[in-house]
Amino acid sequence: MSEGNECIFCRIASGEIPSAKVYADEYVTAFRDINPVAPTHILIIPNRHIESVAHVQEEDQEILGALFLTARRIAEESGLSERGYRLVVNAGTDGGQTVPHLHVHLLGGRQMTWPPG
Ligand code: 5GP
Ligand code: ZN
Repeated sequence: MSEGNECIFCRIASGEIPSAKVYADEYVTAFRDINPVAPTHILIIPNRHIESVAHVQEEDQEILGALFLTARRIAEESGLSERGYRLVVNAGTDGGQTVPHLHVHLLGGRQMTWPPG
C-alpha cells in the first residue's frame, strides 16, 4: 500500500529519513531499530517497497536471499554467531507488523524466550 514518500522504511532506504545504518547494497538496507528490544536489534529491509512476506512474488527471490545473507553477515560481524540470535518477520495484523514494508528483525545479545508474545 504505502510506497515511496508515504512509507517510512522506503524513506530510510533512500536516505531521506536518517537512521543508524549498518549496511546497504543494491538490494537491501540494514539499520538499528529506533526502539531496541535486545542489546543488538537491527532491521534488514528490501530497498524496493514490498508490503510484507504475504506480498512477495517469484521475482523477489534474489531480494529474499539478500535479506537472509545480510542477516547472517551482520550477525557474524556483531559477534552473535557463537551464542546465537533470532530473526523475526512479522506479517499483517495478527503477526504484529506495525510498519507495512517487509523487514527482518535481527535480535541478539540476550537469551530469547519461546513462545513469543
Ligand atoms: P514490526 O512491528 O512492524 O515488526 O517492526 C517495526 C519496527 O520498526 C519496530 O521495532 C520499530 O521500533 C521500528 N521502527 C519504526 N519506526 C522506525 C524509524 O523511524 N526508525 C527506526 N530505526 N526504526 C523504526
Ligand atoms: Zn516502503
